[in-house]
Amino acid sequence: MQSTQTAQPHRRIAFIGAGNMARSIISGLVNNGYPADAILAANPSQPKLDRLAKEFHIHTGNDNLAACDWAEVIVLGVKPQLMAQVCAPIAGINLGGKLVISIAAGVTCDSLANYLAQPVALVRTMPNTPSLLGLGMTGLYAPPEVSQEDRNFAGQLMQAVGEIIWLDREAQIDQVIACAGSSPAYFFLFMEAMQQAAEKMGVTAEDARAMIQQAAVGSAAMVKQNPELSLEQLRLQVTSKGGATAKAIEAFEHHGLRDSVADAMDAAVLRAQEMA
Ligand code: NAD
Repeated sequence: MQSTQTAQPHRRIAFIGAGNMARSIISGLVNNGYPADAILAANPSQPKLDRLAKEFHIHTGNDNLAACDWAEVIVLGVKPQLMAQVCAPIAGINLGGKLVISIAAGVTCDSLANYLAQPVALVRTMPNTPSLLGLGMTGLYAPPEVSQEDRNFAGQLMQAVGEIIWLDREAQIDQVIACAGSSPAYFFLFMEAMQQAAEKMGVTAEDARAMIQQAAVGSAAMVKQNPELSLEQLRLQVTSKGGATAKAIEAFEHHGLRDSVADAMDAAVLRAQEMA
């Protein structure tokens, strides 16, 4: 896995499916100076298109084929279960020289190539939900025949909503799901459990949430701002021997927190493999 960051020319991008994730990418692109004139959103819902046009001054339309014809880069942003149906008519146009980027969870490069029924430069991406706030983590995979220029472009596109990581093998997408796609829910569960415990002690729900969320934000910032320190070192720095934190950590270890986390992440990978 490696990260990439290279400036790219402004190719015409069409988003097929302009829902939450596409909107976030468009917002990130436009806010980063990508010309609105080089972006088109295609979606069946006119009110959605009107909002996008008003907010970002991009092109919009409800003709997927015209959008794909116009574009040099096609971003497939529909729900996974609609992908085959949405790609079927697109397969009828010549995609030679175009780059196709999928943001759909669980749709493999082989399935996409089959749906599009022609040789095409494909990049599969796996963003996570914090991408909606520009704080995402996206795993990207491209088959070996995809050019470095196309890879760089796809990387730059997804950097509009956060950080990226390139994968050497498509199967690693399942690991991205376990580590970044599903993990916001693990953190929410942990915070939920902390809130429940705090309320049991008599803390109000509001105060508990305020303290827990700020501790989570602060801890994440400490991790990011101290890359030279391991997670273990960061934990040890706030764990005085014999103190309150040490007792809490001892209780977590005693109840097998690490095994629970390992089991949970294995279960996520297994399910991702079954769904692909
Ligand atoms: P969404 O429902 O908000 O967006 C999908 C859009 O596709 C909708 O606006 C819908 O009107 C449109 N659409 C439906 N049929 C269409 C058609 N025939 N032609 C063109 N557009 C059509 O969903 P989303 O959350 O933006 O997710 C989009 C993709 O991103 C999904 O494949 C999902 O797996 C992936 N993804 C989303 C998240 C997330 O946090 N939202 C995270 C990871 C991956």
